[in-house]
Amino acid sequence: MRLCAFAVLLALLAVAGATPAQSPPAARPKTENLILVTLDGMRWQDVFTGADNRMMNKEQGGVADVRLLRQRFWRGEPDARRELLMPFLWQVIGKDGQLFGDPERNARAVVTNGKKFSYPGYSEMLCGKADERIASNDKFPNPNVNVLEFLAGKPAFHGRVAAFSGWDVHPFILNRERSGLFIEAAFEPVTVARSKERLADLQALLEQLPRYWEGFAFDVATFQRAREYFVCKQPRVIYLALGETDEWGHGRRYDCYLEMAHAADAMVRELWQLAQASDQYRGKTSLLITCDHGRGRSEKDWTDHGEKIEGAEEVWMAVLGPDTPPLGVRRDVAATQAMVAATVALLLGEDFRSAVPDAAPPLPGACAGH
Ligand SMILES: [Zn+2]
Repeated sequence: MRLCAFAVLLALLAVAGATPAQSPPAARPKTENLILVTLDGMRWQDVFTGADNRMMNKEQGGVADVRLLRQRFWRGEPDARRELLMPFLWQVIGKDGQLFGDPERNARAVVTNGKKFSYPGYSEMLCGKADERIASNDKFPNPNVNVLEFLAGKPAFHGRVAAFSGWDVHPFILNRERSGLFIEAAFEPVTVARSKERLADLQALLEQLPRYWEGFAFDVATFQRAREYFVCKQPRVIYLALGETDEWGHGRRYDCYLEMAHAADAMVRELWQLAQASDQYRGKTSLLITCDHGRGRSEKDWTDHGEKIEGAEEVWMAVLGPDTPPLGVRRDVAATQAMVAATVALLLGEDFRSAVPDAAPPLPGACAGH
């Protein structure tokens, strides 16, 4: 018996020598900077399969010019359609990064807050857990610590984390008062630009566009001020929250929803290209894109989301950067919205759960060695 056990042990050791049973401790990530982007209420269906034929009409989609919309975003094959809609996402992240949330590849990504609307969704994603107390979009300070605040509290990130949002509730979601984060939201004045003239231009853009929605500014205005800040201040972490996709969705304007998904993709590409042209960012920057909730699955309720809307719990995430293995569309992996917070920290070499022990773990495999 003893000899036999010894032989087994030897054999095990031989195997262990050839292929370590446990992966070695992961090296510190290469990522030093991170760009986080959210597209409010952007459905995974449109991300993974492109424009949805059922809404490319007047009745279900409120489309103003059906022929033009089909010309712009319709192709017979889903792969061609999605690339047409979000070329950066598919040509760059689909090839060099990872995408979570395709149910057809057994890789559903879901919100765990059960509410399926914005404040609970952003809070879950940024604070790493669902919180029952967050049950409305009212402007109340979030009691939970978010990952941007966690990072900004570290000397290496202090004063180098910034957030830009089209929505005037984001300063409350990120608890600006407590966190002290640099946040510019909705119609708040533009405060940073490379010159006085540039500042005036950005302010004019904000003021001269129509105030089409209450408490929410057009994405172009939010993007332009974020882009300016990115170039001028070179933050280590920048969060850009875009939201026209949700607004046009509620307005049953599938044409404008698609146009803004397409525009958001181009905005992200621009940030990424700016990063690749800079010594601070090139090869040392990760990008994470996600959404706060899904929307209804059918041509009737695609406009809506919330507790009662089936399918609105389904979300998606896209990750790209020097620490993210190029696995493309992920298969056989379950993801939750709450995993975003720890993923952001992990890519930057930090452990969010050291501060928030009940936060969800990072997205599996999004960072090499984890
Ligand atoms: Zn909404």
